[in-house]
Order: sequence, then C-alpha cells, then structure tokens
Amino acid sequence: MNTHFYHQTPAEGRMLSRRNFLGVATFTTAAIGLAPRQVFADPENPVITFHKDAGKAKISITRLRGNISVLEGSGGNIAVLTGPDGKLLVDAGLSESRRQLSEALASISRDPVKHLINSHWHFDHTDGNEWLHGEGATITAHENTRKHMSVNTRMEIFNFTFPAAPAGALPATVFSEEHKLEFNGVTLVLKKYPSAHTDSDISIEFTDADILHVGDTWLNGHFPLIDYSTGGSINGTIQATELNVNRVSEKTIVIPGHGPIGNKADLIEYRDMLVAVRDKVAALKKRGLSLNEVIVAAPTAAFDKKWGTWLIDGKTFTSLVYAGV
Ligand SMILES: [Zn+2]
Repeated sequence: MNTHFYHQTPAEGRMLSRRNFLGVATFTTAAIGLAPRQVFADPENPVITFHKDAGKAKISITRLRGNISVLEGSGGNIAVLTGPDGKLLVDAGLSESRRQLSEALASISRDPVKHLINSHWHFDHTDGNEWLHGEGATITAHENTRKHMSVNTRMEIFNFTFPAAPAGALPATVFSEEHKLEFNGVTLVLKKYPSAHTDSDISIEFTDADILHVGDTWLNGHFPLIDYSTGGSINGTIQATELNVNRVSEKTIVIPGHGPIGNKADLIEYRDMLVAVRDKVAALKKRGLSLNEVIVAAPTAAFDKKWGTWLIDGKTFTSLVYAGV
C-alpha cells in the first residue's frame, strides 16, 4: 500500500485503514487473460484514484420530473426522489463526498434520507451506504449485492480486493428477481438483470415518471466495464442492453450508471457498438488469434474516439470481450 495514504485527512482514515489491511494484492489479472499491469496505464490503482478524487468532487444536480433529480460527480449517478415520506436515493456515491452530497441533497429539499437502493455491489455505488444508513436510510438491493459486500470480494479488473463492509452498510432488504415498493406515492419496480456488468445488477424504474435507472449495465459514452470476477460477461452486457432498449419508449428518461442522462436512441447506439465489437473479436478469436494478436488488429478502432476516452480504452475493452467469446 502506498505510504502517502497516511497523509490523508482523519475523516478518511477509517476507510483507508480498512483498505490497508488488504494490501494491494498481487498483480494478477489472469482471470480475464490480461498481463500484469496491462489493464490501466495509471500507476496508481484506479480504486484509490476514485476515492481520492471523491474528496474534492463537485456535485451537479439535474432535475428531471416527478420530484426526481440526478446527482452526478461522486461515483455512479445518484437518483433522488423527494417528498413527504423523505428522500429515496438510488446509489450512494463515495463516502469521501459526504459533505458535498449532503449539501446537494439539502439544496433539493429538507426531507431526510429514508431509503437507499443499490444498483449493484460496486464500491462507487455503495461506499456511501454506511453514512446514509447512519442518517436513517433503509437499504434495499439484490441478494448478490449483500453477498459480495458481506465478504472480502476481489475485483480482478481493478486488481483490488474490497474488504467486507461494516454491518450498517449492508442492505437490510434483498430480493432475487423483482421487488416493488411505494414511496412518496410513487411505485418503484426493481428488477434483476441476467448477469451483465456483475451478477448483482438491477434496474430501478420510477413508473409514474417514466424514468429508468439502469445502473452500470450502461456507461453512457463509454466502453463498458465488465466485472468477470463477480459474474459479468460481454454477452450478458449485450443482453441487458437489449432488455433496456426493449423496455423503454422514446419518452423514457434513462439514467446510466455513469455518463450523461440518455434515452432510447442512445441505448440503441450503445447496443450496436457492443454487438459490432463482440462480433469482430469473436471472429478473430475463432480464427485462432491470441489476445495480443486481436489487440493489434484493433477491432474497436472505429469506436475508440467516441467510447474509449474514459476508464476502459479500446485495448481493455478488446481484452474484456476476448475473455467472454
Ligand atoms: Zn459497477
């Protein structure tokens, strides 16, 4: 573990010490067929970078409709439904952004946070669970979210093992296929995806407002991150995107896990990109090409400029697809 963590603020100390006991694990990405340190050029682990950046995060608030807003800037996109029952959040951001998120939430309304739904188990969507639970939020998620958060869980693509979360951070209510709840007079439908980005992904539909939060089954404007370590796959990601396309209308507001709020046309474009890259990589692999040979063939070239500028570049996406075809 890098020693400069010890210069973090006291508020971050508890989290950092939790991280410290892990040690940053051995550099093996064998599970997805990548050479050590090939995944990210950043010399610092991206998980650490996410946490550090979250302390100085700037949160933007976009008001949608039906008392629903989106907070962007700390981890995954956070949906907020407000009203007399209090606030309901979809996803929790990173705990280092607590101050900024609290300010953003207070600027929407004075209603206290009463409910939190996690779209999946990943840290950039659940790290804020503990403090939000402390503020009074009851947490709901897929059963695999609680399962992965309950134990040390490895995320091979980040070369990082996440420690078991404290009891207060764990979802109190879990489900396997579908779960409905009423809050502020709004019906929310939570549905499990077939394993896609992970094996814990759910969609969260605000039925009356026609708003769908699709979690990390969609990174709008970016190649997908596929977490094979906890059940993700390229074909599952395509399948989830098909489900998203078929489920929404032209009027539906779609909230991706990361990236700007989008719509059906954006989802279709995403699906077509995924299918095109999957088919190219599959054809090359079938001809017997090694991963490195496929990377040299640049099957994502036509898409890199538009989709490959954030976390997952064309080479990494090629590797993720190769592992699953
Ligand atoms: Zn994720």
